[in-house]
Amino acid sequence: MKTKKSTCQLVLILTLLVCGVSTASAQAQTIKLSVDATQASRNIVHTKFTIPVRPGPLTLFYPKWIPGEHSPTGPINDLVGLELSANGKPIAWRRDDVEMFAFHCDVPQGVSDVEVSFDDVSQPETTASAKLARIKWNRLILYPREMNSDSIRVRASLLLPAGWKFASALPVLSENKDGFQFKEVSLTELVDSPAIMGENFRRFTLTSTGITHEIDAVGDTPAALEMKPETLTGLKNLVQEAYALFGARHYRSYRFLVTLSDHGGSEGLEHHESSEDGVGEKAFFDELELIDFADLMGHEYAHSWNGKYRRPAGLATPDFEQPMKGELLWVYEGLTQYLGHVLPARSGLWTADDFREVVAAVAAELEMQSGRQWRPLVDTAVAVQFTYPSPRAWMNYRRRVDYYDEGSLIWLDADVLIRQRSNGKLSLDDFCRRFHGGSDTPPLVKTYTFDDVVNTLNEVMPYDWRSFLNTRIYQVAPHAPVAGITDGGWKLVYTDKPNTQVRVGDHNRKSVDLLYSIGAMLKEDGSVMDVNPTLAAARAGLAPGMKIITVNGRAWSIDVLHEAITAAKSSTTPIELVVENGSFTGVYKLNYHGGERYPHLERDSAKLDLLGEVIKSRRQAIAR
Ligand SMILES: [Zn+2]
Repeated sequence: MKTKKSTCQLVLILTLLVCGVSTASAQAQTIKLSVDATQASRNIVHTKFTIPVRPGPLTLFYPKWIPGEHSPTGPINDLVGLELSANGKPIAWRRDDVEMFAFHCDVPQGVSDVEVSFDDVSQPETTASAKLARIKWNRLILYPREMNSDSIRVRASLLLPAGWKFASALPVLSENKDGFQFKEVSLTELVDSPAIMGENFRRFTLTSTGITHEIDAVGDTPAALEMKPETLTGLKNLVQEAYALFGARHYRSYRFLVTLSDHGGSEGLEHHESSEDGVGEKAFFDELELIDFADLMGHEYAHSWNGKYRRPAGLATPDFEQPMKGELLWVYEGLTQYLGHVLPARSGLWTADDFREVVAAVAAELEMQSGRQWRPLVDTAVAVQFTYPSPRAWMNYRRRVDYYDEGSLIWLDADVLIRQRSNGKLSLDDFCRRFHGGSDTPPLVKTYTFDDVVNTLNEVMPYDWRSFLNTRIYQVAPHAPVAGITDGGWKLVYTDKPNTQVRVGDHNRKSVDLLYSIGAMLKEDGSVMDVNPTLAAARAGLAPGMKIITVNGRAWSIDVLHEAITAAKSSTTPIELVVENGSFTGVYKLNYHGGERYPHLERDSAKLDLLGEVIKSRRQAIAR
């Protein structure tokens, strides 16, 4: 049934492209949607739309399962002020008492259109800041329940705040006093084509010929939009590297929709022809934020192929109500996570050392993940409905969305294995070409199963891929899958020098990551965010929620703790902590003498440097 869905979507998109116009019957079903975003900076957006209906019982549905979020995350709590009417008369509505996203009403005789209006309110600093905002159409519409979202047609318009500019993959038809009128599209395509808007706007062109690739950026300040020339060059290279890797594109144009703010619009969400890339205000120039920005751009862009075009059958649903199944997220997100590291390195956005620091940090984090002793990787994907918002407290024991990072290590393992056994003739690039390439097409969804992944790997290089994946993903694996590192010519080592990627993580979280030494992650104010239950901090009795007040008799500071860890290396005396637990305090003895420890990769000269081969640029090789 799900495979059939993808075929239908392909036929529909192609039919519309070939005909150029919608059929009369499709037009008769068109929802006319007008969105007034003039108050977006106050976190309130007004929406009004007309739905063609027939008299009788009608159920309207608010999008619940959001593509790319893999979960029932439609922000139903943000829908307020709902009103239904027809021919100027109000229509009473009643929420379903089991399915909270469904609204029932009775359409009176003689009525052919129902008018719906509501406001979308959001938490401050989520979708908007004072200077920019994000328009997500799924927050702004209800549709007739049980209709396939491919078959619902929508003609949208958008009114912006005065002086603001906008960008979207959604094609503009015209502009008048009511704002921008967009071309009629399916509900699926509408939801897949969000917009960003803001007072400070800048467009960066990434390709000078052929189809459009651009970065559309809005920032809290004009200065935030100043990109370094070498970053722009790297991003242009990223487009070329992706094409060299996959050998085909499955979009008509591509837009990175970047918002730069420390107070709103934070995001990372993929679409066929665009991505929502919400980053900090300094992402274009701050050393650490730039590393993260390149990762995000590589990741979301790779999703156009891996996730949007090729999608696990369980994640390709016919509407926004049917539950999604996350089991194959180790491909959808895991392979994308891997490519989100490889592509920036091939593009020059990252140095080879940046790449290795990420691989080291990921490997160390997963090796020290105590939850891996009880929970197979696949369970973190199956449980996706609650893993994204799962709390930081006890995360080391619980595990979270490990199909991203552990998935990336498994794909590195597969890549190195193919390179090794084929004497460098083949690589995971060959898998990507077969699985995600083909010929250039407009957006379409081609679903796959576990067997399809195994079969394509076998087409590239015959091997027992089924066992390879089963042991790493479906069974409890006490150790992290680090064969890609060790067979790739490198060793995971620990030194007292901070790891770049650990610094990036600390910068983002405002944390102090000491999980590799004392086995704790702390907030900058000394609060315990998480502990590894098997290491020194937890053995001393520390737990998430407690707060360190003093270290060896001195008031808490990050530097004081670092100094104490270094000093304890040449001593047998435990580090003494006074710790707050609610309204009580206690003394805790931290018996740790291993010094500062951070992960890095060290070259193993006995083996070929296959990690170096993985990040070699391919764009020149293809161009030649
Ligand atoms: Zn992703």
